[in-house]
Amino acid sequence: MMLPGVSPRDAAIQLARRLRAAGHTALFAGGCVRDRLLGRTPKDHDIATSATPAEVAALFPGSNEIGAHFGVVLVKSHGHAIEVATFRTDGSYRDGRHPESVTFSTPQEDAARRDFTVNGLFEDPESGEVIDYVGGRADLEAGILRAIGDPAQRFREDALRLLRAARFATTLGFTIEQGTLAAMSEHAGLLGRISPERIRDEFSRLIVAPQRARGIGLLVDTGLVRSFLPELLDLVGCEQPPEWHPEGDVYTHTRIMLEMVGTPGEEAPLELCLAVLLHDIGKPPTRTWDEADDRIRFNGHDAVGARMTETILRRLKYSNQVIEEVTFIVSRHMQFMNVQQMRVAKLKRFMSAPTFPLELELHRVDCASSNGFTDNLEFLIDKEKEFAAEPLIPPPLLTGHDLIRLGLKPGPHFGRILDAVQTEQLEGRLHDRDRAIEWLRCGGMLSPE
Ligand code: ATP
Ligand code: MG
Repeated sequence: MMLPGVSPRDAAIQLARRLRAAGHTALFAGGCVRDRLLGRTPKDHDIATSATPAEVAALFPGSNEIGAHFGVVLVKSHGHAIEVATFRTDGSYRDGRHPESVTFSTPQEDAARRDFTVNGLFEDPESGEVIDYVGGRADLEAGILRAIGDPAQRFREDALRLLRAARFATTLGFTIEQGTLAAMSEHAGLLGRISPERIRDEFSRLIVAPQRARGIGLLVDTGLVRSFLPELLDLVGCEQPPEWHPEGDVYTHTRIMLEMVGTPGEEAPLELCLAVLLHDIGKPPTRTWDEADDRIRFNGHDAVGARMTETILRRLKYSNQVIEEVTFIVSRHMQFMNVQQMRVAKLKRFMSAPTFPLELELHRVDCASSNGFTDNLEFLIDKEKEFAAEPLIPPPLLTGHDLIRLGLKPGPHFGRILDAVQTEQLEGRLHDRDRAIEWLRCGGMLSPE
């Protein structure tokens, strides 16, 4: 039960207090310490303790002991789930994914098993004092992401850390320390051992972050992207017609868009960021030279790109909803060039897609990053105002039941007839049911086939 008014932090402080009252050490650990020092709101408050999982479970009946084997117990406090982990040393990592054993140990050793110095800090929950065994505080102040210990060895132990390094550098806006960065490039290929789900979760955090363009640069420059999104490498050096794209190749264009999209300094929606990243992914395989016009063309890159997008996102195990939305956005991004020529009914249907606001934002940055045109954008913003008074797709004037009552036999032609009525309605030429029936009658559409 959630008791109102107890913040996650206070819930965690009270939990730590009970551990201490029973004679154990209990400290805040990892991300929450880092985030508090940065003035950010932590996602969760993790507690590290000298109590064994059995001792934790005995103190807090009803807690979840699924992770107890690795030293982690999930305790509920005031409706908040808090991870309580026993100080531990990880055993060897033969598969580069999971430690084979854990040994309960001291706070110093527990700090040393963590990934980056800024993630290796502890905090006394009562006094707020920071306990730093790994030099994390100085790195936090200097904005440096540095592996704890020997970076190459740490990446060999657990290859997910390669991607976490790029993710934290991006979300925190930190510089990766030289030795850590060199080891990332050298061991980039190890990321291939990691499951798509774990890659997806880290990658998603990176791509929505304000500094996502820099993040993608890190993934490309270190070679990490080769393990999970190699298609992106083909954008590098994919030349485009300079009259449309004075900014440069498709990779440059995409990165500028990633920088511009959304509200500066804020996270942007995942679907939008993925769509921006992949909107021109169909360009390299469709690139041709048009002799007659003496220029490069990418005919059908939107349809090819949509298929590639679906394949890529499926491989990364994104949800069906994310896959469908992003694929749809990519498939339609070129249609924005034709909106001023669309008939009203077609335009209203186009604008009624749930993804339209995201598509409009993609179109805005597509132009802003290249030719600077704003006419289609302004046209659509005006149309949004013009159409705002009534729903884009109003309730239908006629339904299939009406057609049956009018003496027609149900069949596939029903869809065509109702679509035709809707087109007239959207064009503003039909406003009521009686006129709709009359219109069908005059068109000969009510006579039996
Ligand atoms: P956030 O929750 O904001 O993503 P976080 O630092 O809390 O950041 P988590 O993934 O929640 O990250 O992990 C909690 C802590 O556990 C980290 O701060 C780090 O100390 C440690 N940790 C997590 N994953 C690893 C790993 N693969 N290798 C070593 N230590 C890790
Ligand atoms: Mg966390």
